[in-house]
Amino acid sequence: MAKWVYLFKEGSAEMKNLLGGKGSNLAEMTNLGLPIPQGFTVTTEACTDYYDQGEKISDEIQGQIFDALAELEKIQGKKFGDTADPLLVSVRSGARASMPGMMDTILNLGLNDEAVEGFANKTGNPRFAYDSYRRFIQMFSDVVMEMSKTFFEGILDEIKEAKGAEFDTDLTADDLKEVIGRFKSIYKDKMGAEFPQDPKVQLMEAVKAVFRSWDNPRAIVYRRMNDIPGDWGTAVNVQAMVFGNMGDTSGTGVAFTRNPSTGANGIFGEYLINAQGEDVVAGIRTPLPITRMEEDLPDCYKQFMEIAHKLEDHYRDMQDMEFTIQEGTLYFLQTRSGKRTAPAAIKIACDLVDEGKITPQEAITRLDAKSLDQLLHPTFKVEALKAGEVIGSALPASPGAAAGKVYFTADDAKNAGDRGERVILVRLETSPEDIEGMHAAKGILTVRGGMTSHAAVVARGMGTACVSGCGEIKIDEEAKVFELGGHKIIEGDYISLDGSTGKIYLGDIETQEASVGGDFGRIMGWADEFRTLKVRTNADTPADTANAVKLGAEGIGLCRTEHMFFDEERIPKIRKMILSDTQEAREEALNELIPFQKADFKGMYEVLEGRPMTIRFLDPPLHEFIPTKDEDIEALAKDMGLTVAQVKATCDSLHEFNPMMGHRGCRLAVTYPEIAKMQTRAVMEAAIEVKNEKGFDIVPEIMIPLVGEKKELKFVKDVVVEVAEAVKKEKGSDIQYTVGTMIEIPRAALLADEIAEEADFFSFGTNDLTQMTFGFSRDDAGKFLDAYYKSKIYESDPFARLDQNGVGQLVEMAAKKGRQAKSNLKLGICGEHGGDPSSVEFCHKIGLDYVSCSPFRVPIARLAAAQANLNSK
Ligand code: PEP
Ligand code: MG
Repeated sequence: MAKWVYLFKEGSAEMKNLLGGKGSNLAEMTNLGLPIPQGFTVTTEACTDYYDQGEKISDEIQGQIFDALAELEKIQGKKFGDTADPLLVSVRSGARASMPGMMDTILNLGLNDEAVEGFANKTGNPRFAYDSYRRFIQMFSDVVMEMSKTFFEGILDEIKEAKGAEFDTDLTADDLKEVIGRFKSIYKDKMGAEFPQDPKVQLMEAVKAVFRSWDNPRAIVYRRMNDIPGDWGTAVNVQAMVFGNMGDTSGTGVAFTRNPSTGANGIFGEYLINAQGEDVVAGIRTPLPITRMEEDLPDCYKQFMEIAHKLEDHYRDMQDMEFTIQEGTLYFLQTRSGKRTAPAAIKIACDLVDEGKITPQEAITRLDAKSLDQLLHPTFKVEALKAGEVIGSALPASPGAAAGKVYFTADDAKNAGDRGERVILVRLETSPEDIEGMHAAKGILTVRGGMTSHAAVVARGMGTACVSGCGEIKIDEEAKVFELGGHKIIEGDYISLDGSTGKIYLGDIETQEASVGGDFGRIMGWADEFRTLKVRTNADTPADTANAVKLGAEGIGLCRTEHMFFDEERIPKIRKMILSDTQEAREEALNELIPFQKADFKGMYEVLEGRPMTIRFLDPPLHEFIPTKDEDIEALAKDMGLTVAQVKATCDSLHEFNPMMGHRGCRLAVTYPEIAKMQTRAVMEAAIEVKNEKGFDIVPEIMIPLVGEKKELKFVKDVVVEVAEAVKKEKGSDIQYTVGTMIEIPRAALLADEIAEEADFFSFGTNDLTQMTFGFSRDDAGKFLDAYYKSKIYESDPFARLDQNGVGQLVEMAAKKGRQAKSNLKLGICGEHGGDPSSVEFCHKIGLDYVSCSPFRVPIARLAAAQANLNSK
């Protein structure tokens, strides 16, 4: 028979997967001989079984729960439901990974109409007993039966008013009996049954409620944001109650062994005399700093500090502890490795290494790679954020906090930025033409678009906060107004965005700039020592490249050359090229673009100082470049000697029903080889010149996008080679160069062995590969993915976290086939997944040579790559 329930004394810290974090730590503390109110843990496997059985607890599990309860009664010398001295328990969730506040807790379970009398007699404190009972009814009804809290709060307020009581504590035992009577009748009214009096029924309902809470909406969101799999389940801890609200020698508190905000070494926390945990959380009374306990309860304080040190030494990590003192006796209710800010995490990791408690390898594996975002982007000031009102939320497309005045067009945003205003650009969706407005903005909010939409990709590259795909917004761009969460926001109103959480706030919330100290450098140094996977960046300008190199990029894995054409001076030239109807006219327009593109490449090669750069040839559908504004159309018509009507007609003819699967990628070079010719010339001339001028050892890497067939690659490659050889000859250079392809179409992955025969390298374009494998538009998936999370069909956004089962299989297979055909084939990834820690781990595992990600994610990828390597050993 499977074992589903463990007494604390039967478990250990190693059993975290089965007992959850809280349960395994309670077991470990019990083994260490610390003062722990005893209890038992219902395992995470019991939770998965509950879901497998269609949300039912099996008889076998229920039987084991009751057996453990009988054991607990023996240990405590009290009986459940006893009318003289009843055993009371708390019921709490506890998953493998801590998910603070995401799931439910029930306290004082076991009280009923009779037990409360016994409890009053035993404690000699009827007021306390009735208060405990009314709290339990309230909590059970809310958490277990999902009745609204407001019913109970309303009754309490009415009775307080009738009795002239200002605080709950002003109510007498008799007042509280009245409260209980009213609570029970509203319960009966709403639930159609009496409040359950059998403590075993209460217990089983509470266990079920905790299991159910694993799947509440906030837990699902938290899991998605923290990469916690949905099938882990939560354990349930049933623990004997101790009471901190039994007078002035009782109390309760929370403390950390080091400061969780700064990492400073030293006890940090707060406590309240004569209170239960929820009073601390509710903020009704102001807690005292933990150090005050030394004066109030010196013996308890001394014992508390000894145990705190013992726990930190035992776990070799900063601990977050909950404790209760009942009439002068100290109990620990839980300990766990404390959540901390990224700066604190870095400092604590380095300090623990310096104190000889952990190795640098351990320091690296313990850090949360994603949290490095906090170090590199502005964040909201904690105090300021407390007052912030959330009016909506959407995809956390580019991290960082931003606050500013709302503007609805790129031009308005740019003008306001020039006036020195802080700007939030709000758009239905962004397009390449918005680039200047995006540059001027502190934050970007879009109604449409997913994690790999234009806004998301560009904002991440620039390090600007972006929340995308907020479908709840009703926007009128013409009238310059949007509505969200019951608020109407007009141009010039302040809003604030958190691109790390996706939350949108009303008003101007104060932010603080990012700063990195010396400890960050140490951590990154260790990460580089321990990783084998290389880390490149996706960048298209010398400035972004310089930033990425500063953040540790070892080269460029993806230079999206189309981004170079949106500059005011250049876009008319590319438009001319698109609208030309002869090859000669196209070549003439393209020739005008060569100097610009070449200058950009030179700038980037100079900044790279010999580091490699993969330059991807023109990829987007041409219609993205065509003018939409009348003034631009008129200017173009004039420049080309055409009528406005002619230009408009040609623009219309470029319309595609499904541009993402249309005339884009290498298809452009197949129809217009002169585009590839121009780009090859610009790359080769730039590389040769910088090589000659600066002496860097440059080997250009030319990448052909969206290939699905070997002959297609060969066709474009032949064009590239012809021009490259010609340029070499002209310049008298013997420079080497390579030509590779992106693998971003499923057919290319399937035929990777054939394609490898024509490629020097593969770079997995997992944005398009995900789009085409799922058949989900990367720009529209945000609209329906939420329904998939809610229905538990998918757990995470496949555009943010690589779908290892499906898309990952294609990547792994293509990597294998490619290397079988060509053993020295260089392999990398340049889709947005290259900066996502779990995806980086996958890339390490399947043997890619490098990942490439936006500049600000380079440190995350370096750390994740080191963790992947260390964890695989
Ligand atoms: C990709 O498809 O993964 C990729 C990197 O290219 P882009 O995002 O420019 O389509
Ligand atoms: Mg692509």
